[in-house]
Amino acid sequence: MRAVLLGPPGSGKGTQGQKLADQLRVPRIATGDIIRDHIARRTTFGLKIEERIAAGDFAPDEDIIHYVSLRLAEPDAAAGYVLDGFPRNLNQARLFDATGSEETPAIDVVISLEIDEASLIERTAGRLICPKCGTVYQTHLQPPKRAGRCDRDEEMLVRRPEDDPGTMPHRLDVYHMSTLPLTQYYAQQGKLRPVDASGSPADVFHRILFALKDR
Ligand SMILES: [Zn+2]
Repeated sequence: MRAVLLGPPGSGKGTQGQKLADQLRVPRIATGDIIRDHIARRTTFGLKIEERIAAGDFAPDEDIIHYVSLRLAEPDAAAGYVLDGFPRNLNQARLFDATGSEETPAIDVVISLEIDEASLIERTAGRLICPKCGTVYQTHLQPPKRAGRCDRDEEMLVRRPEDDPGTMPHRLDVYHMSTLPLTQYYAQQGKLRPVDASGSPADVFHRILFALKDR
């Protein structure tokens, strides 16, 4: 299955994407991870978009398509994938659809996580990430076993600059402006499955699996 997970920052998209990928036995491919990797390695691409992300903006479409396509060409993605953070807008969606065929579409199903703005701001404010392995924690919903330390490697957890509550209204505006045409596009294709993203990660995952049953 080739699935896309849509959802605003703080909707639990990363966690749900990993759960779904594990369930389907396919890789979760997150543009955020690809981008962080480039920033960590100080590549030209990484340096270019570091500033934009800190300001609450996203990387250019052409770059994203290029780096995602490279990742999807790897053997582990042959049977399917769960895309997280891509496509981000209508332009990316159209370009990406053009890479598939009628027999093998680029995307089979699109899960859209839906949650109100107040809950999002609260969740994002408590979000911490491991700079070493990329695992995301949430101080209320998904705390690490030891406060401030990664469960996997004991690395000190940090808050990403883009999770600063001050940048959230701008990030949400950008998200909604670019995502509404995207959800309409997939709804027209009959691929969109809206899912209520409130409540615990287990509840939300249950709803996702239920939404996938009627395919
Ligand atoms: Zn870690």
